[in-house]
Amino acid sequence: MIELLNRIHICVGDITQLTVDAIVNAANESLLGGGGVDGAIHRAAGPRLLEHNRTLGGCPTGLAKITPGFDLVAIGIKHIIHTVGPVWHGDASASLSNTHEDVLLASCYHQTLTLALEHEIKTLAFPAISTGVYGFPKERAAKIAFGHVYHFLTQHPFPQQVTFCCFSQEDAAVYHQVIESRNEWMTSRKRVQPF
Ligand code: ADP
Repeated sequence: MIELLNRIHICVGDITQLTVDAIVNAANESLLGGGGVDGAIHRAAGPRLLEHNRTLGGCPTGLAKITPGFDLVAIGIKHIIHTVGPVWHGDASASLSNTHEDVLLASCYHQTLTLALEHEIKTLAFPAISTGVYGFPKERAAKIAFGHVYHFLTQHPFPQQVTFCCFSQEDAAVYHQVIESRNEWMTSRKRVQPF
């Protein structure tokens, strides 16, 4: 767990300013831009992104599509992986992974990571998909995000590094707390295992 955590980072800031090979966009099904992180990415990547995305025919919720970074290539962001998170209509009292929204959000992470693997992307940054206007509960989303990224990294060499890019200190604290409690749980499991 500790070794793998060298490959997972948390930062606070604007995802369009990061020094990474690829960033993830929390897009909508049209892939033609919107508010929040989607708007910021379209502004930073420039009008060629919109032109390109008009040819893609949209993207269903839970899936992902990769594009060039367009104007973002100038700062080193070669690719944008657009994924469409679910709008939260779920029952927050349901156990984790048991709502349709949980399954769709997990699929976003899996599909994005699979594209990153196929393109041998070394460094990848995710925003907190679905936790803005789509209303997904933040801690629940962070558990799904971390769980899937962690599991994927145990199985695959790419991406080499994943950053969870949070837009506020409060959001970053949620990720830190999720990772800390998973770390404690893994450590306690190790302790009770026979040698
Ligand atoms: P969604 O529709 O998937 O909920 P939003 O863009 O509304 O997408 O929000 C997703 C997350 O991205 C939220 O946590 C929001 O605070 C965050 N966010 C918004 N702008 C940026 C940005 N420029 N960089 C990183 N994260 C951002």
